[in-house]
This record gives sequence, C-alpha cells and structure tokens, in this order.
Amino acid sequence: MISPIISIVCPCYNEQEVLHVFTDKIINILSMDTFTYELLFVNDGSKDNTLIFLHELAVRNKNIRIINLSRNFGKEAALTAGLDHAKGEVVILIDVDLQDPPELIHDFLREWQKGYDVVVAKRINRSSDTLTKKITASLFYKFHNSISDVIIPDNVGDFRLITRRVVTAIQLLPENQRFMKGIFSWVGFKTSIIQYTRQPRAAGKSSFNGWRLWNFALEGITSFSTTPLRIWLYLGVFVSAIAFIFGASIILKTLFLGVDIPGYASLLTIILFFGGIQLIGLGIMGEYIGRLYMESKRRPIYIIEDDSNTQKDKF
Ligand code: UDP
Ligand code: MG
Repeated sequence: MISPIISIVCPCYNEQEVLHVFTDKIINILSMDTFTYELLFVNDGSKDNTLIFLHELAVRNKNIRIINLSRNFGKEAALTAGLDHAKGEVVILIDVDLQDPPELIHDFLREWQKGYDVVVAKRINRSSDTLTKKITASLFYKFHNSISDVIIPDNVGDFRLITRRVVTAIQLLPENQRFMKGIFSWVGFKTSIIQYTRQPRAAGKSSFNGWRLWNFALEGITSFSTTPLRIWLYLGVFVSAIAFIFGASIILKTLFLGVDIPGYASLLTIILFFGGIQLIGLGIMGEYIGRLYMESKRRPIYIIEDDSNTQKDKF
C-alpha cells in the first residue's frame, strides 16, 4: 500500500457503543477531501466488543488498520502506539467518543497547508464537564504552568494534527511514562490554534474517574518539573532559620529571666506540624523516586498482541 497522506489515530477503550457512529462520520468527512487516508484504531485492551466491531469495520473499508494492544496500557501508551505505526505525512489524533468533532479535520488540514506543523483544537468552554472537573482542570493548568518550564496551553487536549517531523521529534523522547500533553508542548514547532465547543460524549462513559485524573495530574507535574523537590530545600532553610532565632530567644530568656516551664502545648504543636511537613516532603520525594525506579526498568511503553495483518486469520 502506498503511504497515505493522512493518518487518523484513534485510541479505543471499551467504545463499542460509539464506534460505528464515529467511523461512519469520520469516513464521510475524510472522503470529502482528496487526500488519501488511513484510519488507525488502537484497541487499548477493551473488555467489550470493540475489537470485534473494529474487524467488521475493517472488512468494509480498506483504509482501516487495527493495532490490538495486549492489555489496557492507558490512553498515553495507546497514542504512542498509534504514532509509532502511523504511515501518513500528517497524523491526526482524535477520541472516538465524538467529543472531538471530526468536522474540525478540514480546518486542521487547511492550517497545515498554510505551513503549520502542529494544529491544536482549543475548547472555548467546558460546559460538557462537571463543575469539579472544570475547577480541578483549571487549578492543574495554573499550578503546572507556574512551576514547569514547559507550558501546556489551557483547555487544549490531545485532539490535534501533527506533521511527520513532529512525530519523529516525539519519537526521540524515550520516556516510558508518557504525559502526552507535556511531550507535545516540549517538542515545540509552529503551532496554530483552532477554537471549538466540546460536546458531551456521544455514548458510553469516560474512563477517567477522579482518582485516575489525580494520578494523571501527578504524572504531568512530576514529568516536567522538579520544582516540588526543590521547594523542600528552601522550606528547610526557612524553617531552620526560624528555629535558630526561636532557640536563641529561648536561651536568652532562660539566662536572663530564669527557667520557664510552660510550653507543652506549643511544643507539641510544633512537633506535629513539622512531623507532617517532613512526611509531605518524603512523600513528594517518594513520587519522584518511584518514577525513577519505573523509568529505570526501561520497559516498553506498550505490547502489541496482533495487528491488522496477523488478525486476518483469526477473524
Ligand atoms: N482511552 C484509551 N485507553 C484508556 C482510556 C481511554 O485508549 O485507558 C481512549 C478512549 O477510548 C477515548 C479517549 O481515550 O477514545 C478518551 O477517553 P475518555 O473519553 O474516557 O476521556 P475523557 O474524554 O473523559 O477525558
Ligand atoms: Mg471523552
């Protein structure tokens, strides 16, 4: 097969309910353009009928390719697998739940033809999100960007177009724990931003619950900043200075005013307070050490069980 111009990379995890609607819609949109394309689905260890449906779709359309991961590796790994196997001149990453409107692909391509290497879609509102998600997301972006050298634009997800040279640049980043939003920002390139309104999921449910999002946020912060580690140095210096002044004042008071017995409550408070602070410090160090440990194993980011070619015999 001659390499297509456009590769559409779609990570799927338990998406049986939206898969057909999504595929029909996107094929419709892609056939309006003259560019050749491939639809590269990455099945990220779905437990429902996603894989079976993908094969049914692939039989009907020759432009569909499937990569089937051996288990659920998470969206970041699924995207990496997609990028590694996409053959197109440009790659578009899109969710299959129709929260990323496929219509925007035309705008993406227009911007690409103007010479941009990256075209991102920015949500103009988050009305499809809950209030908690809106607040926590906004706090995350503010915090992340204030302590990290790599700025992640607010309200920009993975939905984007990138050219081959951006894909090649991303592949130079060898880390196993991949926070794609940060990686995209880190590699840079000339970027165009398109605005859109994010719709609620067409069907099915989000696989990112509160706990998963919290860990995702930790991943983002620890992957692109060491500020949380350095804070402890400054905090330590500050606290030691205060302790020194406090100690000196107690000594002077005892020398000049005699022994002062009371102070039990303040002592206990100080001990507990600093015990807590130290544990937080240790916890933060633990986060980084844990990540160093995982990273040092050099495990692959994902494992492919089979792909379109090998699957033909099975289905
Ligand atoms: N996804 C994936 N692996 C996962 C979780 C999600 O490939 O472990 C895919 C999912 O099928 C969808 C996209 O990533 O195409 C976004 O997931 P979701 O809609 O659950 O996230 P949200 O839009 O709520 O952030
Ligand atoms: Mg979604």
